[in-house]
Amino acid sequence: MLTDNVFKKIVDGQIPTTLLHDDDLVLAFKDIHPQAKIHILIIPKKEIRTHADLTAEDLPIIARMHQVAQKLANDFGLKPGYRLVINCDRGGGQTVPHLHMHLLGGRSFGWPPG
Ligand code: AMP
Repeated sequence: MLTDNVFKKIVDGQIPTTLLHDDDLVLAFKDIHPQAKIHILIIPKKEIRTHADLTAEDLPIIARMHQVAQKLANDFGLKPGYRLVINCDRGGGQTVPHLHMHLLGGRSFGWPPG
């Protein structure tokens, strides 16, 4: 069980944020340190520490995260394209121990990501 987790606090309403999406499975809100003109985080309400901890029972959550990302990309007019990122664990650049998907858009992106 995760305890001191900023995204869990957002789920629990203990840290205020402007929600862009809220349903039974996921929330979406703007990243506090945006790395692109549009930088949105999509998180599950369920406490899942990282991508590597996902199980088959979480498939509806993952599906919903992708649906919400697609909808928000459309709502924010990211017609030229966008990038979805899930950093997994320290080696993957994850800093908040609660699964989250970054939706980035409004600029061009290089590859490899660095
Ligand atoms: P990651 O490095 O993949 O774990 O990404 C964590 C992201 O959470 C970073 O882009 C942070 O800027 C963002 N972040 C941390 N705290 C908050 C917060 N209270 N509200 C919105 N975004 C946050």
